[in-house]
Amino acid sequence: MKREMVKHPSGVSVHKIRAAVLRKWGGPLKIESLELEGPRADEILVRIVASGICHTDIGIIEGWIGSEEPVVLGHEGAGIVEQVGRGVKGIAQGDHVVMSFQSCGSCSPCRHGRPADCGRFYEANFGFERLDGSNALWRSGVRGHFFGQSSFATHSLATKRNVVVVPRDLPLELLAPLGCGLQTGAGTVMNTLAVPAGAGIAIFGTGAVGLAAVMAARIVGAGPIIGVDIVPGRLELALQLGATHAIDARREDVATRIAEITGSGVDYVVESTGSAEIIRLAVDVLKPKGRVALLTGFMETRSFPGGRKAVGVIQGDAVPQRFILKLIDLYRAGQFPFDRLVKFYPFADINRAIADARKGDTIKPVVRIGNP
Ligand SMILES: [Zn+2]
Ligand SMILES: [Zn+2]
Repeated sequence: MKREMVKHPSGVSVHKIRAAVLRKWGGPLKIESLELEGPRADEILVRIVASGICHTDIGIIEGWIGSEEPVVLGHEGAGIVEQVGRGVKGIAQGDHVVMSFQSCGSCSPCRHGRPADCGRFYEANFGFERLDGSNALWRSGVRGHFFGQSSFATHSLATKRNVVVVPRDLPLELLAPLGCGLQTGAGTVMNTLAVPAGAGIAIFGTGAVGLAAVMAARIVGAGPIIGVDIVPGRLELALQLGATHAIDARREDVATRIAEITGSGVDYVVESTGSAEIIRLAVDVLKPKGRVALLTGFMETRSFPGGRKAVGVIQGDAVPQRFILKLIDLYRAGQFPFDRLVKFYPFADINRAIADARKGDTIKPVVRIGNP
């Protein structure tokens, strides 16, 4: 798609872009022409090659947060840097980048290298505006800046804090989903829970996040690794990717099966279904002092009898600039074969990609947006 540039009254350049706009809760998304301001001093204009579709995008289409539409979603964007603001150092035009979650950079956790704990995480990622309240799509009457990117578009405005420069020899369309779902699943096992070799772990929900957790559990040498789901095809894939056991929760009693497999319960559970009933079950199957990582929503740590704990996890406590490169190295070594989860769609078919993910037919849809 050819891009035109027009003059903005304040002197900022304005770029004509195309983006999938959510105009009413429930969808569908509609691809429209919009105007995006050029980068400010601390911003980076990225030409998007592809974007993953994450469960959180789908949740927002379904009306989770009830913010004002119309908005541009998408938070697993990958592309090529087209322009950098005056103040951005270390990132250059032409760099290949994967975008991840946004953080403020100035609160105490951000200054101490823990961006997933950012005190302004919610505003920075779900506010649909910059942290100063402005919005680079304002001329079009649409709100962007979702996770500091709104990547269901031909172009995104990001910052150095949520951009990861990646090697150029791997296809950007494959790397896109590392930015959220895969980072979250793998990071929960490797960073948040820091699962040691030999520990027993159950993974409740084997979608993209859960399967990333399965692969990470195998990498750290955990065992048994028990996948729990209700979709037989996903359980089959979990077994291929490193699960030692699979439980179909529609056909088997999960607590009984876990007791049979482990004798005394598991040390860790990764819970990605968000169902209150299943969270309770996840705590029940823990050994004393065991831990459940809750991947849905912003949850406080809760304690249960026997020293068991449930901890809320955001983005697998990852520092994207380090962790995404680590996952790429593991992929090259054949240990993190996340390409097995991905299915590609043309941008024009984004609504079909979302429908397939909702049905569970596609584990990780990626839409191809621009030329690689
Ligand atoms: Zn912060
Ligand atoms: Zn996500």
